[in-house]
Amino acid sequence: MPRSLVTGGAGFLGSHLCDSLLASGHSVVCLDNLFTGTRQNIRHLDGTRGFTFVHHDVIHPFDFDVDYIWNMACPAAPGHYRYEPVKTTMTSALGALHCLELAKQSGARLLHASTSEVYGDPEVHPQPESYRGNVNPIGPRACYDEGKRVAETLCFDFRRLHGTSIKVARIFNTYGPRMHPYDGRVVSNFIRQAVTGEAMTIFGDGTQTRSFCYVGDLIDAFRLLMDTPEGFTGPVNLGNPHEFTMNELAEVVARHAGVQATVDRRPLPMDDPLQRQPDITLAKKALGWEPVVGLEEGIPRTIEWFRSVRLEDYPPPSPNVMQPEAQKR
Ligand code: NAD
Ligand code: UDP
Repeated sequence: MPRSLVTGGAGFLGSHLCDSLLASGHSVVCLDNLFTGTRQNIRHLDGTRGFTFVHHDVIHPFDFDVDYIWNMACPAAPGHYRYEPVKTTMTSALGALHCLELAKQSGARLLHASTSEVYGDPEVHPQPESYRGNVNPIGPRACYDEGKRVAETLCFDFRRLHGTSIKVARIFNTYGPRMHPYDGRVVSNFIRQAVTGEAMTIFGDGTQTRSFCYVGDLIDAFRLLMDTPEGFTGPVNLGNPHEFTMNELAEVVARHAGVQATVDRRPLPMDDPLQRQPDITLAKKALGWEPVVGLEEGIPRTIEWFRSVRLEDYPPPSPNVMQPEAQKR
């Protein structure tokens, strides 16, 4: 039985990854400090053979006898990472360091969840892996962006120094069931607002773009990436290249929710990237992968999940969800 450790396993992506690994015969240690993740996301796995939950913070070292390490632990939504910015940087850097030390000592293979945020507010569009980015190192998003950049640096230094087995995924905006309804991200905000009859909060003029990947597609890519030959390390962009403005996204959500949307315009947060679209040429070639679920299919599935849960069971992990630091552009 292959053995996997999933840090951040009680979160949105981590919980789907635990499902996928267990379904294909892995034993899974799901490690999480439950900051933005919740026990509800993994409740259905309680009692599943080979599944163990460990409440632990990745800023402290950990040791498990595993073959694969999937490092998902890190707050990912802007409102949450800005709530504890110093802790966010430390989670990213020390979490990666502790995963790498375990991988080095045990010979386990590590897949690290990096992000399109390493490109900052990009001046190259779409973004290939060779683009070095445009990150403001002292802005309010830097705790996340620079933390993730340092984590990538650590991965590649461990590779150069110790030959550690690494796979670095640069994930672009991903959505789906089990996104925290109060994580403040755009898909979860729009859907929560649509299903509860609130106005949709559009930041800025809504012409900024993002490219949204359905969670099932991303988990497929994770599994393929982990199984690539030892010589392939990435970084590799994983995301759906179909690009939408936030105004278009609001329209798609309202239409599938069957509501007449009202809009509440808010200031654009500081350093909010104006456009983002992955160049997935490398993922197609190295993984033989490309996403298959478009917004018209993924949004209704996500709405259905939001309607199936009690929102009061998901208290906001931090108070910063709706008050991003504003900037006039
Ligand atoms: P999430 O917030 O749902 O999951 C993160 C998990 O990590 C949560 O369960 C949280 O409780 C846990 N965690 C946070 N700090 C921790 C710590 N110090 N110790 C232990 N556990 C900790 O977010 P997600 O969307 O599932 O993101 C998972 C990973 O993917 C993150 O590393 C994120 O940066 C990356 N990512 C996600 C997206 C996306 O669109 N979902 C995009 C780019 C990158
Ligand atoms: N956004 C918005 N309304 C919201 C939440 C976010 O218009 O209620 C915008 C946000 O300003 C950004 C985009 O949607 O331009 C994506 O934001 P999200 O926080 O989901 O992800 P990220 O900025 O990290 O890509």
